[in-house]
This record gives sequence, C-alpha cells and structure tokens, in this order.
Amino acid sequence: MSVFGSVTLKWEDAQKSGNIMWRVPRNIRLNDNIVVREDEIAVFYRDGKALAYIDRPDRYALTSINAPIVGAIVKFLSGVEQQAEIYYLQRRPFDGKFGSKQPYQFKDKEFGMVNLRLFGEMRFRVKDPENFINEFVGTRGFQSSDEVEDRIQEQVVLLIYDAIGHMKENGLGVTDLASNLMNIEQIVLEKSKPHFDQYGVLIDKISGLYISLPEEVQKAVDTRASMQVLGTDYVGYQTGQAMREAASSESGGGAAGAGVGVGAGIGMGYMMMDATKRRQEGAPAPGMTCPKCGKMVPGGMKFCGSCGARMEPGGDCPGCGKFVPEGSKFCPECGKPMQSMAKCEKCGKDVPAGSNFCPECGAKAGE
Ligand SMILES: [Zn+2]
Ligand SMILES: [Zn+2]
Ligand SMILES: [Zn+2]
Repeated sequence: MSVFGSVTLKWEDAQKSGNIMWRVPRNIRLNDNIVVREDEIAVFYRDGKALAYIDRPDRYALTSINAPIVGAIVKFLSGVEQQAEIYYLQRRPFDGKFGSKQPYQFKDKEFGMVNLRLFGEMRFRVKDPENFINEFVGTRGFQSSDEVEDRIQEQVVLLIYDAIGHMKENGLGVTDLASNLMNIEQIVLEKSKPHFDQYGVLIDKISGLYISLPEEVQKAVDTRASMQVLGTDYVGYQTGQAMREAASSESGGGAAGAGVGVGAGIGMGYMMMDATKRRQEGAPAPGMTCPKCGKMVPGGMKFCGSCGARMEPGGDCPGCGKFVPEGSKFCPECGKPMQSMAKCEKCGKDVPAGSNFCPECGAKAGE
C-alpha cells in the first residue's frame, strides 16, 4: 500500500488454482491498480450489477477518466460511492464432474418406479462475463467458485432428467437407458445452449454419462444385452416364448403355429425359438442359413461371411438412414423412436407394431 492508500489488486495463483471465479475480498477505489493476465477477465461490480469488465491483459492504473479501457471504470469510481467490487473470472474451459444428489424416479411401464442415479463429466466456460455476473453470480449471491460450479453441475443434471423425461414420453423404458447414453449426452448438450446462454455460461462437452440402476433392473438389462450378442432380439425372444406357451396350452396349437409365419415376417420366429431351445440345452449358439445366398452362417455373426448380407434383423432409420437392429426402441444414431406401440387388450402392456402376440401375457394382439 502506498502513502496515498492506493493498492494493486491481482489474482494470485494460490487463489486461482482450480477456481473459475474469485471475488476479491476488498473493494477497489480510485487510484488503485489492477492487474489482468491473459487468461483472466476482471469484472467491476456494484449494487448487484456489472459496471464494466476488462479482458485485455495489462496492469491498469485507475487514475484518469481519459485513460483508454479504464476511463469508464474510473468514472464510476469517482462518482458518489467511489468503490466497486471485483470478480476475476478465468477464460479457459473447466472440466468438472456432475452427479445426481437425489435419485431420479423413473416410472417404468415394466418395472414400476425405478430410482436412477447418474454421473458424468462436463467441460464448461464463461462465455459472457456480464451475463455471468449479472444473471448468475449476482442474482444468486454466489461468493465462491465452488458455489458456481455446483450450480452449473446441478443444472446439467436437471437437463438430463428433463431429456430422459421426454424420451420416456416417446416410449423409452428403463432398460433402454444404457443403449441411449450418447443420445442423451447429445440432446442435453443441445439443450444446454439456450439454457445456459442467459447465464453467460457455455457447456462445451458432456461425456462419460453413466446411469446406475437398481440391481434387479440391471440384471434384466444384462440378460437382454447378452441375447443381442447372440443375435436374438429380446422382444422377439419373449414373443417366441409366449407363442410356445400358447401353443402348449391350446389344443393342437394350430392358431399359434399359423401366427409364427405371419407375425415374425421372414420366419425369424422359427430361428429364435430354435436358438432358445438349444441354448436351454446348453449347446452353443446355432448357425443360420443366409437368406440371400443360402450358405451356413455361424450363430452370433452379424453378416454373412460369403455374401456379406446382414444377418441381424432390423432396418434403416427413417430419420438418419443408419441401420437399426430389430427390437430397438430408438435409433442408436439419432434417437428417433422406432416402434409404434399398441396396447395389449388383455394386460395393457405395450405390444410392438407387427407383433401378433403380447410379449407380456401372450394374448393375441388386436387387428
Ligand atoms: Zn450370404
Ligand atoms: Zn436414425
Ligand atoms: Zn398382454
């Protein structure tokens, strides 16, 4: 401090390390000096509002109204109140983690109320220093960098919950979450732009999203995943199983037998039932005949080794044109819902369009 009482304010590395923001615990006055380094922004703040900011590196003496850059600030400091607060902000992006503090209650058609927890990583930065201070820090009274980061992470978690909610309205079940994590990341990144814009924050990246499920739900998901590896889609498997049960309970099973050819289209029903039976007997996954060239293709192969035809049932996404495996509820590429669902008249569960039998109770689906 000089004889005239002027001080030099700067963001010391000790306070700076790991912090996106620092509120200088001392007001700045006329004739003080302020140091702004190249990765910093200094925002002058008074009465809940950003007065001005400096984002060009230099050491500034706040002495003259005629000085470039700081003239306007000097004017404020030579006014009635003669002092202002300073917030230093970092310009560089910050990496952080987010996680749900409270579980999200997902009302699933199959499993009922399921508690989800989610975790992930994000990169964010200050995009607009004035909005950041006025609309985010000032209005909420944040004093520390931790408070700021906590709130950004909390908001990202809420955006993810919101995205999951919308996807659920489009038929997403809790067992579809694992295969849609990247979709969710993309959707949330898009939604974060208008949401955080008003706060002067930009989310650069959301990655490593992980959603933890209760154990019994996770088991069901794992079962389905292992069936997909074996080349069997789960809905088809369940349909096959329901059909076999229907066949054994009805005399003769003629009606159910007729349903296989019609409902399962290209005779996949037979192959699935066959595969299911052999797996239950402990045999390795069986091969299939290529529908295009007629050669034998080992079980689990997604393409025919002879002619390259795709062995995996599915189709092209009408949204993005990418291949979508049969039974997928959403395109893994663009997230478009794949199936129009009908309700089973008997049990009320969803029946995929084109199925002749309810995968839940085995009842014959309506016309
Ligand atoms: Zn082939
Ligand atoms: Zn698509
Ligand atoms: Zn049913």
